[in-house]
Amino acid sequence: MTDLPVPLVDLRAQFQVIRDEVLHAIAVALDSMRLTLGPNVQAFEEEFAAYCGARYCVGVGSGTDALSLALWACGVGAGDEVIVPAHTFIATAAAVSLVGARPVIVDIEAASRCLDPELVEAAITERTRAIIPVHIHGQMADLDAILVIARRHDVVVIEDAAQAHGAELRGRRAGSIGDLGCFSFYCSKNLGAYGEAGAITTSDESLAERLRLLRNHGSAAQYEHVRLGTNSRLDEIQAAVLRVKLRHLDSWNAARREHAASLNRLLAGRGLELPLEAPERKHVYHHYAVLASERDMLREALQDAGVQSGVHYSKPVHLQPPYRELGYQPGDRPVAERVTARVLSLPMYAELREDQIRRVAAAVTGLMQTKVRASQPRRGR
Ligand SMILES: *Cc1c(COP(=O)(O)O)cnc(C)c1O
Repeated sequence: MTDLPVPLVDLRAQFQVIRDEVLHAIAVALDSMRLTLGPNVQAFEEEFAAYCGARYCVGVGSGTDALSLALWACGVGAGDEVIVPAHTFIATAAAVSLVGARPVIVDIEAASRCLDPELVEAAITERTRAIIPVHIHGQMADLDAILVIARRHDVVVIEDAAQAHGAELRGRRAGSIGDLGCFSFYCSKNLGAYGEAGAITTSDESLAERLRLLRNHGSAAQYEHVRLGTNSRLDEIQAAVLRVKLRHLDSWNAARREHAASLNRLLAGRGLELPLEAPERKHVYHHYAVLASERDMLREALQDAGVQSGVHYSKPVHLQPPYRELGYQPGDRPVAERVTARVLSLPMYAELREDQIRRVAAAVTGLMQTKVRASQPRRGR
């Protein structure tokens, strides 16, 4: 058993714990044969809004759709600019491009690795319509500072909370602070469906109404299309699964935080930059992402030692081909470029066992020690 590799994420371990609850919920949904926009979607939307501390939640087809529908609902489109961070999953910027607007890619703060509020203000032009801070790796961006700037320039703030279900900033949860919060329930997220799913939270009733129309062909009643929309509905089976999992989310996030604390303790002083939890922010460790100067070597050596790892993400957004076309160059966003060259995600999921954490730490510290010794100059030279 201990010889099996330690996986980066272990969805099967979680399924074993909730198998009966999930299968029962799916069976009830199928027995009712209410498959779209039925009781599970409605109940999940109410439960998730309450969980986040927002008044409304609108379930949609994916996290990417959540972002582009949020922009669409705010009237963002061709000719508009939207500020996004350079260190994020591509979908944050792609959603902006998909509604015809232009992403303005801004650098991050070194400590939190989230959008740097000091750089946001300078990036605002008369075309700026929205800012999308990303709660990267599960820690919230400095939304208070960003909101002050947004209000001054009359632009909306859309939280990309795809990695931050349950994360907090000064006691308020992700998805309740910006004008809108966008969530992904991709299978490996802290709250993950067993298929594709996403949601948008807001406390603005008219935005919630608009989003309900947009996700369902603008339908006010059957075949009454009061505006243009699309098909991006959350389905009943995924909603049933999400309702089961939402009941476990707080304990799963608490377990992730304990594992992160153990890893922080075991990995301290080994030449890695460990994740920093800012005061007044509750990190939910979607990723446990360290920075290592010889990341690729370390990653290979860990693989040989039976420890899986990931790279989130290997290239900053501005250097991805679709955005190089906008004129961005290497060196333009130095903090994000430094992070993407070094970032390494170690195994992190609620069901991670203590022996697995010790194995991860032993593998990393053993390798780091070898590396330090090898790089020390020989005496007498
Ligand atoms: C996962 C993710 C998305 C996209 O969500 P999907 O459900 O995969 O479309 C967007 N932004 C961030 C930061 C993500 O991690």
